[in-house]
Amino acid sequence: PRLREPRYRVVLLGDPGVGKTSLVNLFAGVQERDPLDQHGGVAYERRLTVDGEETTLLVLDAWESEQRDEESQRRSHCLQIGNAYIIVYSVTDRDSFESASELRIHLRRARQAEDIPIILVGNKTDLVRCREVSEEEGQACAAVFDCKFIETSAALQHNVDELFEGVVRQIRLRQGGK
Ligand code: GDP
Repeated sequence: PRLREPRYRVVLLGDPGVGKTSLVNLFAGVQERDPLDQHGGVAYERRLTVDGEETTLLVLDAWESEQRDEESQRRSHCLQIGNAYIIVYSVTDRDSFESASELRIHLRRARQAEDIPIILVGNKTDLVRCREVSEEEGQACAAVFDCKFIETSAALQHNVDELFEGVVRQIRLRQGGK
């Protein structure tokens, strides 16, 4: 059998409407069923070359914010299976920014002993006149919660490649600089 390059599972978190599906659609890739996700979530798999090395990313867009019982099971499952997390909020929606902080806390609680990479993403930067959360606030929040930070616009396809490349770099950093 062929040696496989590393394959990492990245889970998208964030309030409904912040742009998770739009971001993953730009990442594109082949739609797959994640063997670890028994809850019917959609995953996208794509190989990408970062710093001259190939990696396969499996990106899960399965997060549901509803609080029904079966959803809460799915939520805790999502918090367990990621090798890395992308927490998305919309810069036009302060509530989604508050939710992002809560998600960071849930994640830390769920994966206490682990140092998993987390990227905080402020999406919809193209909607300049509707902005409710400044870039500085996003940066400060990321510093407090010990995450990386990037602002994106799925609409303008701005910083989306950089986001997924950044995820790969963060995962590699924690694996001894591979
Ligand atoms: P999800 O619920 O988090 O998966 O969010 P969606 O990807 O479904 O996006 C919700 C809505 O926001 C859709 O109408 C998208 O077209 C829109 N949207 C997503 N990203 C952006 C963006 O960067 N800029 C603008 N203007 N709209 C966006």
